[in-house]
Amino acid sequence: MTEAQSKTTYVGYYNLCNSEVTKVGKVIGIDLGTTNSCVSVVENDQPVIIPNPTGGRTTPSVVAFSKNGERLVGDAARRQAVTNSSRTITSVKRHMGTDWDIRIDGKQYKPQTISAMILMQLKKDAEDFLGEPVTEAVITVPAYFNDVQRQATKDAGRIAGLDVKRIINEPTSAALSYGLDHGEAQKVMVYDLGGGTFDVSIIEIGEGLIEVLSTSGDNHLGGDDFDARVSDWLVAEFKSEHHTDVSRDVAAMQRIKEAAEQAKKELSTSESTNVVLPYLTQVRGEAVHLERTLTRTKFNELTADLVRRTEVPVQTALSDAGITASQLGRVLLVGGSTRIPAVQQKVFQLTGKEPSKNINPDECVAQGAAILGSTLQGNALAAADTGMDLLLMDVTPLSLSIETVGGVATRLVERNTPIPTRYSRVFSTAAAYQRDVEINVLQGERTMARDNKSIGKFRLKGIRRAPAGVPQIEVTFDIDANGILKVSAKDLDTQKEQSITITADDRMSDSEIQQAIFEAQAYAGQDVQRREAIEITNEAQSLLAKAQQALKERKKDLDKNASKQIKNEINALQKALSKFRLDKMTDQDLENVKTAKEALERSAAQYLGM
Ligand code: AMP
Repeated sequence: MTEAQSKTTYVGYYNLCNSEVTKVGKVIGIDLGTTNSCVSVVENDQPVIIPNPTGGRTTPSVVAFSKNGERLVGDAARRQAVTNSSRTITSVKRHMGTDWDIRIDGKQYKPQTISAMILMQLKKDAEDFLGEPVTEAVITVPAYFNDVQRQATKDAGRIAGLDVKRIINEPTSAALSYGLDHGEAQKVMVYDLGGGTFDVSIIEIGEGLIEVLSTSGDNHLGGDDFDARVSDWLVAEFKSEHHTDVSRDVAAMQRIKEAAEQAKKELSTSESTNVVLPYLTQVRGEAVHLERTLTRTKFNELTADLVRRTEVPVQTALSDAGITASQLGRVLLVGGSTRIPAVQQKVFQLTGKEPSKNINPDECVAQGAAILGSTLQGNALAAADTGMDLLLMDVTPLSLSIETVGGVATRLVERNTPIPTRYSRVFSTAAAYQRDVEINVLQGERTMARDNKSIGKFRLKGIRRAPAGVPQIEVTFDIDANGILKVSAKDLDTQKEQSITITADDRMSDSEIQQAIFEAQAYAGQDVQRREAIEITNEAQSLLAKAQQALKERKKDLDKNASKQIKNEINALQKALSKFRLDKMTDQDLENVKTAKEALERSAAQYLGM
């Protein structure tokens, strides 16, 4: 395909969030993080953080399948990670939009399905907190996420039973939470170093307007990498002392990883920390302990190159926004890893600005999403003094092109174009009498098609026979407010049109999503039943123990028939319990335990005073 004459149309429009007015239940804002997730909702015009059942304000993005098949999410999953590492999934966000999967108990799980489990937990926490059903959400993603990753995130929301009203970039969301407290017009840098990703964005905050001018980053850089450096150091230290390599001991490594993260966090406020892991492993039949002191200086040395890796994206974001650091009004720090003093020093060194300390780096992203959720429902801008409308402009994180003759990537949408947007360009055929053309949609900054990521392909067929360069094929890119792309191609002669739903292999089909929704709901039902079964059997065990003890103590005073009846009921309950298997229970098995338990409860109350 070649490019035809210069008929190029550009239609960029901005989105006034308040125009979509529907009043229903509350829309929650979710920061679906690599390491931790956070959920917020606007109440009385203020975004509040929804705590999880253990009172935590963030929830570990960890999913586990316990040995008896129970599904655990959050703190519970993280706690058991040491003893069940092969069935525990962490940092699934790193796999979003890829063909990664995991097989557990013969069942295959995609990243969307695992993420959906986290979202279901957050949804439930929000419902418990609000005392009403929650069906709508705004979910945040790193600015660097491509179309496939955004779509996968949206699909995860659908699987979890959430209507995802918007996918919003994390730095935009952070600025949203910040911009409302401080109305002054300014350009702001959002430096977001989380658990697994680094994003830097330049944002313009005006009166009621937040515009993303540029974004850059590295979606494989984050706190996990800092933990790994400390873990590697601990392993090396242990090796030099005990001449033993623990790196293949899965349980020991899990403990080392946890201790490494803990040490890293402590070094954000202390100059040195002790890592103590008793009974870490066995060396020649003897238990050995790990005990080491890590200083902040050593930690900085181990991680200096990671901190340095944030330099280039910062410079790229500044130059893409067409400004120098001195024109920045403020620098916002987002993500738990920005608590590391060396990171804060690096930000100061790069920008000459003391980063703002008055936003909570763990919570502001979810808060911004909640604020957007609330405005999408037609509410006035939460927490704003003026009640003005909110104009929110995001940008495309990477350039979008199609492949043209000679394998060249011809750009239709430059990176950092505000979205939603629509862009058309007319192309023609490269060969005489060509009847169809292939449209290969590419994402990336490179000039040759093969160096960019192909995110979808389709063919426009039935072009009228004509010499090369005569047919007029209009290719249109449409990017919606979520950053999700639709591409269409139209033969202007025959008006034949073909459009694409992006068909990257790693994207889930509609039927796969429906299946996953069905399974997620079935699993939620199973979880309730399983929890009920666990409660009943625990109560039954405790009743049995108490009744046996009371019977022993009071046998002499009891009527013979009563004593016999209680013994029979104890036997019946023991029998029902012995047949009961949590992983293979039927409704009848559970019913048998319930009936036997109730019978024993009645007699124990009547004859044993229990
Ligand atoms: P986020 O994805 O924003 O929740 O960031 C999580 C990352 O922040 C994890 O790698 C944490 O270990 C890290 N983190 C949290 N608190 C601290 C702290 N006080 N010092 C250093 N890193 C931290």
